[in-house]
Amino acid sequence: MGSRKPHAICIPFPAQGHINPMLKLAKLLHHDGFHITFVNTDYNHRRLLKARGAGALNGLSGFRFETIPDGLPPSETTDATQDIPSLCESTTTTCLEPFKQLVARLNEAGDAPPVSCIVSDGVMSFTAEAAAELGLPEVLFWTTSAGGFYAYTQFEKIIEMGYAPLKDASYLTNGYLDTVVEGIPALKGIRLRDIPSFIRTTNLDEFIIEFIFAETRRAQRASAIILNTFEALEQNTLDALSAFLPPIYAVGPLHLLEIELTDSRLDRLGSNLWKEEPECLYWLDSQEPNSVVYVNFGSITVMTPGQLTEFAWGLANSGVSFLWIIRPDLVSGDNAVLAPEFLEATRGRGQMASWCPQEKVLGRPAIGGFLTHNGWNSTIESMASGVPMICWPFFAEQQTNCWYCCSHWGVGMEIDSDVKRGEVEKQVRSLMAGEEGKEMRRRAVEWKNLAAEAAKGTSQQNLRKVIDEVMLTKV
Ligand code: UDP
Repeated sequence: MGSRKPHAICIPFPAQGHINPMLKLAKLLHHDGFHITFVNTDYNHRRLLKARGAGALNGLSGFRFETIPDGLPPSETTDATQDIPSLCESTTTTCLEPFKQLVARLNEAGDAPPVSCIVSDGVMSFTAEAAAELGLPEVLFWTTSAGGFYAYTQFEKIIEMGYAPLKDASYLTNGYLDTVVEGIPALKGIRLRDIPSFIRTTNLDEFIIEFIFAETRRAQRASAIILNTFEALEQNTLDALSAFLPPIYAVGPLHLLEIELTDSRLDRLGSNLWKEEPECLYWLDSQEPNSVVYVNFGSITVMTPGQLTEFAWGLANSGVSFLWIIRPDLVSGDNAVLAPEFLEATRGRGQMASWCPQEKVLGRPAIGGFLTHNGWNSTIESMASGVPMICWPFFAEQQTNCWYCCSHWGVGMEIDSDVKRGEVEKQVRSLMAGEEGKEMRRRAVEWKNLAAEAAKGTSQQNLRKVIDEVMLTKV
């Protein structure tokens, strides 16, 4: 290593569940002595400024934010999640040039050390071309679970074996999705419904299928791959991935590594695209331990007004206290409207907000369970807090995460995608007060302890290794 300061350019896929872990990784690198350029899309940068204020994005020496366009046509909404398949297509087809220009501009400006490493989201791998041209290491950060990532890498095989495409749309509901997929030893016993949801198609010409093929193939050419997981949790799929991919480094749960940072100025740098409503924390602090179920479906899930009503009455009828985060764009077509009767029935034991500081919420002793869509960040944050889950996966590899929670890790019970209030009521009661819930909580606490050990042990060591072995090689 030379004497220059290393400079990592960190570029997340432009969605909340990708920006959050990338920012944590960037902070850890900054703490390690890197100059950081963090690249958001113009759209998300505007949202961050609105949600957090300019002060939250500058003022830290050697940590800068830059932007590039996302390639989508201007939208009417300014504060909602963008369509994910459209973003996959637009970033793949339009972002390389602006990204290259940005790197060139950073290098020419001379007010920061030359870019020495690219840390790119696993599904923004067009950046590999820029890295190759400049002779820089390209580290891909897949923000999925190892199991979810591995399932994506098996798409070609699953299709070759004839499990997909579906013959017609009736195969979505006729029991076919319960078929066990044979021939993938590391995913033994997995059903088609547990494979990332994009496999459930009648049309293999869809862009998203091509996209998954291209991104998983390109992973093979990266200098290294980082995952926000830990070895004790996903050793099996980490080994399976290591058999055919570049060196893999499990460095999670990143939010636990981040907590270890001592520089309080880093706390100000946040990435929530919606304004947090921290008041719910005070309410949680007034509740009994393990008495509240936390309900949050992340940043992308959309449900019908009918599904919202079923969840609402299931929660009301369970008699359990709850904190329910209802994002402004959670319900399709219309604003989320809850009946006055529901509000009356849950007065005093139901709290609602539109966005919260989730990691802090999950860490509150009052939280006894999490009704979640199983986005990977939510899943690992929940396990790291020892909180068991009711799983209602929406799309992508959330289905795979749900399978692991319910069938492997002993911390989840699944709710049918065609959600009914009776089932919500039953599961919430069982999770919060039943024997099954008790056992799941015991297992979740075991995972919490292992996550904490990893954050001080293997994950910390793996981060050190990827920095020394890969990220510092061109300094
Ligand atoms: N999150 C949050 N407050 C909320 C909802 C979500 O801080 O009210 C954070 C959460 O902690 C997680 C991320 O947003 O880090 C959501 O990512 P995840 O992978 O769980 O789901 P996605 O939004 O990608 O579907």
